[in-house]
Amino acid sequence: MKCAKCKNMDTKVVDSRIIDNWQTIRRRRECEFCWYRFTTFERMGITDLMVIKKDGSKEMYDHSKLKKAILLAFAKTNFTNEEIENLLNTLEIKWQSQWPEIQSSMIWDDVLELLKEDYPVPYVRFFSVYKSFDSLDDFKQLIW
Ligand SMILES: [Zn+2]
Repeated sequence: MKCAKCKNMDTKVVDSRIIDNWQTIRRRRECEFCWYRFTTFERMGITDLMVIKKDGSKEMYDHSKLKKAILLAFAKTNFTNEEIENLLNTLEIKWQSQWPEIQSSMIWDDVLELLKEDYPVPYVRFFSVYKSFDSLDDFKQLIW
């Protein structure tokens, strides 16, 4: 990060704080050349989140992967892309509070919980896909 005053490239972070409901990181930086202090705001991507699978292995959270699974459940129902993105956004804000790691089971439970409230058809579909597999874990393995 370039110094805002002398444009020197060597700046260090002296303080980091997560603000705005886990969506933004505020950093205090200090230039190592002129000692000028300045503040930067970085939007925190959910991509920073690690998913811990049942077997203990870890994988980066992948927005598009989860979106695909949700779109399948919504197929042929009346929905907009914006609606799906809002759904994901609601979930991701919640999951971000688990940062830096989240259990995959929490992801699936939260998706079901959210669908159950307002989207009965996709909920039933999601649920029946679960049931057609031997176990919930087999289904989860498909994605995470
Ligand atoms: Zn400087």
